[in-house]
Amino acid sequence: MIIIRTAAELEAYTGRELQNGHSIGFVPTMGALHAGHLSLVEKAVQGNDVTVVSVFVNPTQFNNPTDLATYPRDEEADIRLLAQAGVDVIFMPTVEEIYPGGLEGRERHEYALGTAAEVMEGKFRPGHFQGVAEVVARLFALVRPTRAYFGEKDFQQIAVIRNMVESEGIKVDIIACPIKRADDGLALSSRNALLSPEQRAVAPEIRKALVDSLEYARNHSVQATHDTVVERIDAVPGLETEYFEIVDARTLLPITEWDEAPEVVGCITVYCGKVRLIDNILYKTINK
Ligand code: AMP
Repeated sequence: MIIIRTAAELEAYTGRELQNGHSIGFVPTMGALHAGHLSLVEKAVQGNDVTVVSVFVNPTQFNNPTDLATYPRDEEADIRLLAQAGVDVIFMPTVEEIYPGGLEGRERHEYALGTAAEVMEGKFRPGHFQGVAEVVARLFALVRPTRAYFGEKDFQQIAVIRNMVESEGIKVDIIACPIKRADDGLALSSRNALLSPEQRAVAPEIRKALVDSLEYARNHSVQATHDTVVERIDAVPGLETEYFEIVDARTLLPITEWDEAPEVVGCITVYCGKVRLIDNILYKTINK
């Protein structure tokens, strides 16, 4: 395994691999790696000739400076975990390598991300998805992956990236991977490291409320299901729902009737103290 820190070196490496006819699996991350990230890495290692994992806390996708400043980082542990997972390259760039000209001087481009980028995370984190699209497009241009792996924990992000790939004409297979959870159901997240023991103890209530709402949804309206989830979570001291939206899983737009869309997902963001946690649950799916 090698660690690459410059864009030029990465481009040269992936260029050689592509010349040799090798497939490249790519997993973009912001580090502070956990079993969720590693499940994506495992799929990439299994499904491709070589695997590249990037570890880069992307400033342009943070709309809140405190969130960026407190985002957990652990380069040493990340390197150890990725070596064990069998990846070929870790890309750990500086901000200047990703954004030539620096954050202020960089070239700007407005990505066409569709309506999926305007709701939920798009509404509550202005600029977030443009920042995600910017970093992912830059990384895709350097890595030129055959397949790129993303977690369904960030359900909306996958839809937005699919739109970006299409509007930019990038050739890559986007592979969606299931959410990894702790034994008590809490979705694994780098941000979980920021929870106090008391906060960590109540955080699984988010998942419990979502799971219990599956049964409730069978004989209640979309609105009633929404309300029961929000009321239950907000009744837990230390938890506060930012939004919970029940949406068409393809468009990410809200629905009002269960039969409005073949696939329906509920996406939630909850503040646990100052820590922002996200999760989602599938209410309806089509058998594939
Ligand atoms: P992040 O480092 O938070 O930007 O996440 C990097 C990738 O890992 C994204 O595609 C996430 O959706 C994915 N990911 C994060 N947490 C999980 C999880 N618990 N299960 C599956 N994938 C995850």
